[in-house]
Amino acid sequence: MNISNIKLIMSISYSIQQSQGVKLRNILKKATNEDKLEKSDILRLFKIKYAEDFMDLMQTAYNLRNSKNNSIKLTSTVHLTNICQVTPKCKYCGFAAKTSLGGYYYPFFKKDHEILDAVKCVEQSGIPRVSCSGAHGYNGAQATNAARIVKENTSLELLVNVGADLNRTALKELSRYKTDTVCCNLETINQKLFNELKPGEKLQDRVKVCEMVSNLGIELSSGLLIGLGESYQDRVNHLLFLKKFPHLGEIPIMGFNPYKNTPMENHPPCSLMEQMKTIAITRLMFPDVRITVPTPTIGPGNVKYSLIAGADNIATVIPENYPADVKGVGSPSYGNLKDVIGVVQELGLKLES
Ligand code: SF4
Repeated sequence: MNISNIKLIMSISYSIQQSQGVKLRNILKKATNEDKLEKSDILRLFKIKYAEDFMDLMQTAYNLRNSKNNSIKLTSTVHLTNICQVTPKCKYCGFAAKTSLGGYYYPFFKKDHEILDAVKCVEQSGIPRVSCSGAHGYNGAQATNAARIVKENTSLELLVNVGADLNRTALKELSRYKTDTVCCNLETINQKLFNELKPGEKLQDRVKVCEMVSNLGIELSSGLLIGLGESYQDRVNHLLFLKKFPHLGEIPIMGFNPYKNTPMENHPPCSLMEQMKTIAITRLMFPDVRITVPTPTIGPGNVKYSLIAGADNIATVIPENYPADVKGVGSPSYGNLKDVIGVVQELGLKLES
């Protein structure tokens, strides 16, 4: 591993100090051996304070990812619609129409030929996977239509993410089209925080969709939005909660970034260190699960740090000639395909073809 990358981060964010010692080494040894980590072990990792310990955590997560899978998956995106019926809107949302001048702002609903052009472009670029995501209010009809277009016209791997806007019929339809993965992010399982930030949604509805996806044997993706005001204990509880889904195959780790004009525009962004720590701990807890980092949430310039921390899927990767405007979910920026490939190669990792 290119340890100088980690040292560079450490010099920015931590003063180089001595390790807290043997206990931490034992936890990392347990993780390397894939022994079960106790709740207190996981919390201890989140509370890492010293540079040397942080580097050991990164190194352990990096090695564990490479021992399982040293090829990195890339996932592109198609945003189906930003017309969202959730009312009131989630307080951080800059994706839905009229929520942020930094986001899409104007309402759109992509026509079939626009979805087709976008996914054809993704396929031709060599990116193997696409995420089709969109706002709420269609009982999954926007998702099943996109799945049909992708699967009838391309050989792309497909993830669908319309949050909790899915019912059993829509999920069966998605399965019939051979949708590879369905994503429903819980964001945070701190009930009070969820209610405060997402007053138009119920946490239980999202949990129910995750259960339905998993029970139908479809691969489930479900992730954490961090830096919203949750505690380390909340993150530990959330990660342990995800263990109950037998078909969990992917965990997105998304750092909060404020979108202007939203109620959270003055809330501080989630630091890179917190994102790296959470990615690495997730890798230690879930050695075989795909860990996804969207380029807008970590920032296109920070993609390499997500890979150092043990992620193996970079999402919202956009090819040069992509035929539509893209505003990332979580921030308006996104990673360009050429740049992301450059980062993967710089770290000496392979791309999944
Ligand atoms: S975050 Fe999603 S569900 Fe919430 S308002 Fe925005 S588009 Fe709608």
